[in-house]
Amino acid sequence: MISRSELVQRDNNDELSSYRQHFQLPNDIIYLDGNSLGALPKVAAERVQQVTEQQWGKSLIGSWNEHDWVNLPQVVGDKIAPIIGADKGQVICCDSISVNLFKLLASAITLQQHSGKTDILSSQDNFPTDLYIAQGLSQLMGEQHVTFTDVAEQQLLDSIDDNTAVVMITEVNFRTGKLLDTQALAEKAHQHGALIIVDLAHSAGVIPSQLDNWQVDFAVGCTYKYLNGGPGAPAFVYVNKRWHGQLQQPISGWFGHRAPFDFSADYSPAADIKQFLAGTPAIISMAAVDSALTLYEDLDLQQVRTKSQQLTELFQQRVIERKLNHVLKLQSPEHSDQRGSQLSYANEFAYGLCQALIARGVIADFRAPNNIRFGFAPLYNRFVDVYDAVEQIEQMIERQEHLSEQWQQRSQVT
Ligand SMILES: *Cc1c(COP(=O)(O)O)cnc(C)c1O
Repeated sequence: MISRSELVQRDNNDELSSYRQHFQLPNDIIYLDGNSLGALPKVAAERVQQVTEQQWGKSLIGSWNEHDWVNLPQVVGDKIAPIIGADKGQVICCDSISVNLFKLLASAITLQQHSGKTDILSSQDNFPTDLYIAQGLSQLMGEQHVTFTDVAEQQLLDSIDDNTAVVMITEVNFRTGKLLDTQALAEKAHQHGALIIVDLAHSAGVIPSQLDNWQVDFAVGCTYKYLNGGPGAPAFVYVNKRWHGQLQQPISGWFGHRAPFDFSADYSPAADIKQFLAGTPAIISMAAVDSALTLYEDLDLQQVRTKSQQLTELFQQRVIERKLNHVLKLQSPEHSDQRGSQLSYANEFAYGLCQALIARGVIADFRAPNNIRFGFAPLYNRFVDVYDAVEQIEQMIERQEHLSEQWQQRSQVT
């Protein structure tokens, strides 16, 4: 059985261990929820202060030019690009995943108009907002123009056929952490003349996706999870350059116009990725994202992936060693190369387990109906954190703290 001191040693030898000091983390907690809200990079806190006090406070509206606020969505997009395996000029930071998915789905469906294909294919256990957006678009455009089909995740590949207009997937399942084979799905989609949209919410920053190499058409992703951009930080859109200039983006706001400051009465979209902008960018939170991304500048993503796999492997190994696997029933794939950077366990008292653990300073989260999730952020989680977290779980279960009356009532956010 592995000892705590071995793990202290392992942290000392870990080449990524120096990243932890760049985050502001309370001393008395173990944070295993970076898959929901990444920790605060110290540089982001400084940057927000600088943008508000020095830029907004002093230069006011002049900052749009003086501090290049106007180009921040592309500047940030180009920093995200290498993290998702994309060349520059194909990624832009804006809005939320939900809104961006709407833009992309509508653009993709419009591209397919003359092919006679109308079906958006996704999986039933995709993140709800992704499904809701597809349902909403289908309602808006009418079922004869957009039909929406969701199948079991393992049926996705086989369900792609000549009626498929768009395959819409999330690379890492938010509930189970299962990692899909995006490359295989993109290939099959293209064989049938379909387009593919990939949601990288639980990938960006921990999975070395290769969007360009895999010839993915479109993607969206999140900056407040593993990229540590802060609560509600704007999302990103990837549009493969082969589609630039050919798309109709339905949220045709002025920032996506070819020349917003001409103030012409007619919409004419930018020919590049800027077409996916809609309105005025949220500069303060985008600046936080921009600074958080400096942590990724010299990072080898393969190294991040390796550590991520080691962390999930160690956690599961400890769960088994401490004989907790009867309480925590693994919902994630057994092998770390088939899952993202999280572990998910089922238990009928999962909400209580989660709350009792939080009370002990181990932050995980609960996902209905009965899952407790542990996210592992290789930039600030240590091997020793895994050890300590499992110790806490063991004590908590021994004392049955999760069955306490006080966890019967669920908070609004779980
Ligand atoms: C976190 C997450 C979202 C969040 O969408 P927002 O519109 O940015 O709130 C969407 N999809 C997936 C798969 C997610 O994990």
